Amino acid sequence: MDRTRTVAGSCHCGAVRYEATVDLDAPAYRCNCSLCRRKGALIVPVTRAGLTVHRGWENLTVYQWHTKVAKHYFCRTCGIYTFHQRRIDPDSYGLNLGCLEGVSEDDFTIELADGANE
Ligand SMILES: [Zn+2]
Repeated sequence: MDRTRTVAGSCHCGAVRYEATVDLDAPAYRCNCSLCRRKGALIVPVTRAGLTVHRGWENLTVYQWHTKVAKHYFCRTCGIYTFHQRRIDPDSYGLNLGCLEGVSEDDFTIELADGANE
């Protein structure tokens, strides 16, 4: 049975709006790296093609650190972390589960990613 679902996502102020195709059979994760510990979000992985930004790309600011491979996007207006292009697979994104409509952590298996030691 197909457990993919297309859901809407947005930052808090609404300047950034997007759509994502998530797979409910793919675990969401919490990461213990120094950045994720601070932002505290649950992250849902999607393919690059699985994310479409409808508006507000220009309102996102990018934060890069460590190896500078991953790109962490935050809304310039409300400061919310929306998604990031992932270091372990730059052809994918990690989405902030809290920004997605119609799905919650109850829909996913939650795993711990050991970003601090990878
Ligand atoms: Zn915003």
